Parts: sequence; structure tokens; C-alpha cells
Amino acid sequence: MADIDRALALIRKSKRIVALSGAGISTEAGIPDFRGAGGMWENVPLTEQLSASAFKRDPGTFYRASARLFSAIGKAQPTMAHRLLARLEELEKIEAIITQNIDGLHHSAGSRKIFELHGTCRTGHCPGCRATFEMSEFYDQVARGEVETPLCSSCKTAIRPDIVLFEDMLPEEAWEGSVAATEACDLMVVLGSSLVVYPAAELPMIALSGGKPVVIVNLEATIYDQMATVAIHGKLGDFATAALALFG
Ligand code: NAD
Repeated sequence: MADIDRALALIRKSKRIVALSGAGISTEAGIPDFRGAGGMWENVPLTEQLSASAFKRDPGTFYRASARLFSAIGKAQPTMAHRLLARLEELEKIEAIITQNIDGLHHSAGSRKIFELHGTCRTGHCPGCRATFEMSEFYDQVARGEVETPLCSSCKTAIRPDIVLFEDMLPEEAWEGSVAATEACDLMVVLGSSLVVYPAAELPMIALSGGKPVVIVNLEATIYDQMATVAIHGKLGDFATAALALFG
């Protein structure tokens, strides 16, 4: 049986699927990933600029470094793969969607059981007075060069997007929920992740240690491919189109 058919057969018989999504699920929506070919990692020393201490020191540099990513997110619509997961949830086959993405596209696609391990850039807050903000207009202003750093309207502190930066801890509830869902699942499907960012990359190991089948769909090889039940190297759009023909 071809790999894609084996993956679809596993999805068909599973009732408690955990999907682990990474930046690769959103590239077909025009959002660059970090480590794929042409990803943002090639151009910018992101670990320095997108860290919590760098944000405190120099929020303007943080906003300049992330402008390309955040303005692409503002324009993006869910991909076929986001729609596939929303459809599988409608069919009551989803235990949880665990995403490393900050783009909110699983919500836009209609999924509800989501753990956003790295937060969302759609909203932000003032670290000074804790006021909360919708961020899209600020990102557009930064991208147009009208604003260097979005400031809180009340106390003029630099607004921080609600994302997990390098050096930050993961949100405890999202991490604990993700581990519990992984332990409870009957199939893990990894969609568009290089599986090198920890602790998210521990989750497939938790599934494998519990004897659960793991399907990986990614353009490039990952360190888990040899251990996975099925590893497909291809575009998520093609995989999701084939799956939606079956489950849509
Ligand atoms: P990554 O950039 O490390 O890896 C993405 C993987 O997706 C690559 O291996 C690439 O080959 C694959 N890929 C790209 N396009 C694909 C496609 N069309 N079909 C199949 N595979 C495809 O991403 P990661 O593992 O999620 O970790 C990176 C970190 O980047 C995360 O912490 C995340 O928060 C952040 N990030 C998020 C976004 C977003 O929210 N959309 C975008 C960039 C980075």
C-alpha cells in the first residue's frame, strides 16, 4: 500500500487523533516558515532578535525582525490542511490540535480543540498596565514604516504580542493539556514541522512510547521519520486534498 493510503487508513480508523502542526502547515497560505527552504532563519539571527530579553532591550528591532512574518499572517487564510483538521473535528475524530504556530489559522478554519503552545500574535498586551490589544493594525503600521514600536495608548509602554519568545516558558496549561491529549490519543499526525523545537518535539516521542501510531507529513526529512509508522515527504496541500476527497 502506498504511504498516503496507509496514512489515510490510519486516520479513517482513529477516533482520538492528535494533530501536531508547525509552520509548514501555513506556508501554502503565504506565511514563511523558519527552517524550510527560503524560511526566515536563512536571513535573520532570530534567536537574538525574537528573545524575551531582546524585546525588553529594544522592541523596535523585534518589530522590524518580525514585520515580514506578522504582516503575512494578517493577510493569510486557512489552507487545505487547516480545513482538513476542522473537518475531522466535525466528524468527532479529533482529540486535540497542538500547534506551534502563532498565526491563529486553526481558529479561522473552525477548529476548536486547540492548544497554542507558542501563543498567538493576533493579540497583545501592555507589560506595564496589562491592557490588551488586537494587533493587526499595529503590524500594518510597522510594515508601512509609520510606527517603529506599537505603544500602549494609556501608559506608552511597548506592547508585547501574546507569543512565546525564545527564553520564555511555555504556557503551563497548554503544555499540560498537550501531554494529556497525546497520552490519550489513538493516532498522532504531525503536519509541517521540522520537529527540532523543544519541548513540542517531545510529543511524538510520548506518543511512540505509548505505542501509538505516528504519521508525519513534511516536505523535508525529520529525525522521527525512521520511528514513525508512516512518513510522507510531500506538500501538505496534496495530502490534505487527498484526505478531504475521502472525509470532506
Ligand atoms: P519550522 O520552520 O522549523 O519547520 C517547518 C517545516 O515545514 C520544514 O521542515 C518544511 O520542510 C516543512 N514545510 C514547509 N512547507 C510545507 C508544505 N507546504 N508541506 C509540507 N511541509 C512543509 O517550523 P516549526 O517546526 O513549526 O518550528 C518553528 C517555530 O516557528 C515554531 O515555534 C513557530 O512558533 C514559529 N513559526 C510560526 C509560524 C506561523 O505561525 N505560521 C511561521 C514561522 C515560524
